[in-house]
Amino acid sequence: MSRNSPAESNLHTWVEIDEDAFRHNLTLFRRKVPRTTRICFVVKANAYGHGVHHMVSLAARSSVVDGFAVHTLREAEDVLAVAPHSSVLVLGYVPLGNLGRAVRPGLSLTVWNAETVRALSSIAHTLDVTAPLHLKVETGTNRHGVHPRDALAMADLIRSLPGVRLEGLSTHYANIEDTTDYSYAEYQTRVFFDVRRALVSARHTNLVVHAACSAAALLFAPTHLDMIRLGIAGYGLWPSRETLVSAAVFPDFSPLKPVLSWKARISQIRAVDAGQFVGYGCTFRTTRASILGIIPVGYSEGYPRALSGASHVLVRGARAPVRGRICMNIFMIDLTDIPDVSLEDPVILIGADGNETVTAADLAAMCGTISYEIVARISPEIPRFVVTER
Ligand SMILES: *Cc1c(COP(=O)(O)O)cnc(C)c1O
Repeated sequence: MSRNSPAESNLHTWVEIDEDAFRHNLTLFRRKVPRTTRICFVVKANAYGHGVHHMVSLAARSSVVDGFAVHTLREAEDVLAVAPHSSVLVLGYVPLGNLGRAVRPGLSLTVWNAETVRALSSIAHTLDVTAPLHLKVETGTNRHGVHPRDALAMADLIRSLPGVRLEGLSTHYANIEDTTDYSYAEYQTRVFFDVRRALVSARHTNLVVHAACSAAALLFAPTHLDMIRLGIAGYGLWPSRETLVSAAVFPDFSPLKPVLSWKARISQIRAVDAGQFVGYGCTFRTTRASILGIIPVGYSEGYPRALSGASHVLVRGARAPVRGRICMNIFMIDLTDIPDVSLEDPVILIGADGNETVTAADLAAMCGTISYEIVARISPEIPRFVVTER
C-alpha cells in the first residue's frame, strides 16, 4: 500500500485523502438511493476541509457523483475550474452585485427572494441565456427560504420572467441528525410535499426536487426524491451519534470509511524534570521526569484550543496525551511512555495507526462541537495528498 506521498518529507503538517475510502462511501450511497436519484456531492468549506481540488477531481472521476453543491459563488467557480463540465448548485446567498458572475454554463443558483430573481432575469435576458434556479422552501429551520405559502407565487414569478427557469425545488431539515425522534423531519417533509403538489398542480413540472442531506439519505428513503445533497457521510463521517444509532439496526448497514487523516512531524523532543510547567498559563505540571514532543500545529491551523490538555495524538501506534494549552502554531505531547521516538517522526492528529484511532468525532466530543466543525476548520494552507491502495 503506497501510504507515503513523496512530497510530505519536507512538510511539518499535511492531510491525506484516502481515495479508496471515498470510493467506498460513494458506492454505498449509489447502492442505497434509486438509480434515478442524482447524487449531488456537497463540497462547501473547502470540501469540509478535505481540499476542494482533490475532492472534486476524485468525485468527477467516480461516475457516482452527478453534480456538486457549494455555499458561495466563489466556491462554485473553484469547482468549475477543476471540473469544467460539471454542474454546480450554489446553496447560499449571492449578493445582488455579484449576480453577473453567476450566470454561466454549469451553474445553478438557489433563490428565495424576488429581488434576486428579477436581477438574474435582467442579466440573463441581456446575455440571451437562461439561468436555472432552485427555489428553496423554508419548512422548519427559519433560515434562507421562501415561506411555504409564498412558494407558488415565487415559482409563478420565475415563469413569468425572461432569462430564468425554475429547475429545482428544495428544502433542508432542521434536526434530522440531532435526535432519534423523527417527527419534526416528518412534519417538514409533509410541508415540502404539499408545496410540491401545489406547484405540480400549477404545471410547474420537470423540477429536480431535493431535500436530503446525509442523515436523511441514510435513514429515510422517502426523502431521496430526484437528488440527494450528500455532504459529511461522503467524507466517511457520521452526521451524529444519533444517526449512527438509527442506521446501525438496518439490515443493509455498512460502516462509512473516513477519508481524511491529518498528520504532523515532531519538531523537537525534550526531556524535562519532574515539577516543570508545560505551555502558556502553566496549566500542566509534570509529576515525573518526562519526555515531551513538540508538534508544529496549533489553533491557527485548525487544531482547536479547546483540546488543551484533553486530546491524544497517535505516535508509533500509541496514544500520546496533549499536555498544556494548544498555542497558535504549536502544542506539546507526552512521549514518556512511548519508546524509540525520533525527531520528525510522523504523528497522527486525526486518523488511524495500528489498532488505535482518533476520529474527528472523538475530537469534536472532547471540545463540545461536531465533526463537521473539526474537519471544516483544518487550515486550507495545509497541503492535501491523495493516497490510494493501487
Ligand atoms: C451542507 C448542506 C448539506 C449537506 O449536509 P450533510 O449533513 O453534510 O450531508 C445539504 N444541504 C444543504 C442546504 C447544506 O447546506
